[in-house]
Amino acid sequence: MLPDIDAVTRDDLIRLITRYRLRLIKRLSQHFVVDPTVIRDIINHVPSGSKVLEVGTGIGVLTYYLAKVASQVVTIEIDGRLMRIAEQVLRGLDNVSLVQGDALRIPWPSADVLVSNVPYSITSPLIIRIIREGVPRALLTIQREVANRLISEPGNDDYGRLSIITQCNYSVSVLNTYAPDSFYPSPEVYSSLVVMIRKEPCYSDMKILESTTNILFRHRNKVLRWVLNKYIGPDAVNAVANAGVNVNTRVRQLGINELVKVADSLKPFINSIVNHD
Ligand code: SAM
Repeated sequence: MLPDIDAVTRDDLIRLITRYRLRLIKRLSQHFVVDPTVIRDIINHVPSGSKVLEVGTGIGVLTYYLAKVASQVVTIEIDGRLMRIAEQVLRGLDNVSLVQGDALRIPWPSADVLVSNVPYSITSPLIIRIIREGVPRALLTIQREVANRLISEPGNDDYGRLSIITQCNYSVSVLNTYAPDSFYPSPEVYSSLVVMIRKEPCYSDMKILESTTNILFRHRNKVLRWVLNKYIGPDAVNAVANAGVNVNTRVRQLGINELVKVADSLKPFINSIVNHD
């Protein structure tokens, strides 16, 4: 049993982790939360009584505090050694189910909130899966630079495919940013907590929008006309211009509403490219 969230200290959590003398696997981004502020910030944004899906259990510290506010927590961990430790940390909590597996591959149960101190190596594919699964709310601690990409606006250096696909489906905000020593062992980067809240998608055909951004953002600093000509042809330039989009705009300046118009005009072209592949 862990101390109450208002009483637990960084030292308590470091002692708990070091007690197990784990050999950590770098590839799996095994940096465990030891700053109680991070845990409090997360649980304060989990509506009480909600069903939570957690990705990356670690030794189960965050899971433990999630279980105090949620009606049910399903938590997925890829490393069987950590899963066995988490079973001890979480013993006696009957609203927690532990699942061993790769969170990118195994089926997800339906949940109100997905929570993760995200393993850095799976950040982008995890966010893409959250979007595809239509998870209603996600609370993610991610590398600060990736958080900046998620909230970035047209014209900014960070603005790109991930910003567009995410903002098309979610309202995204950064809740807080934490120094490396909030985690043990400390990573080399700052982390930010972001909340993503599902909204009406900006466009109904996400595959077409994804294909469109994949093509355009190969050359983010070129004008739209140049990129369309290079990869599809002059008919695509005409179709996009006829939809009312200025084809002399640089790709990185295109807002989501314009990209939706571009995607919609490119639909027949993209379908024929895909069908011929
Ligand atoms: N939630 C814990 C915490 O906050 O202390 C652990 C967070 S740690 C940054 C990420 C965890 O995700 C590690 O325990 C790691 O083994 C696990 N992990 C890495 N890749 C995974 C994957 N594909 N599926 C499930 N868990 C994964």
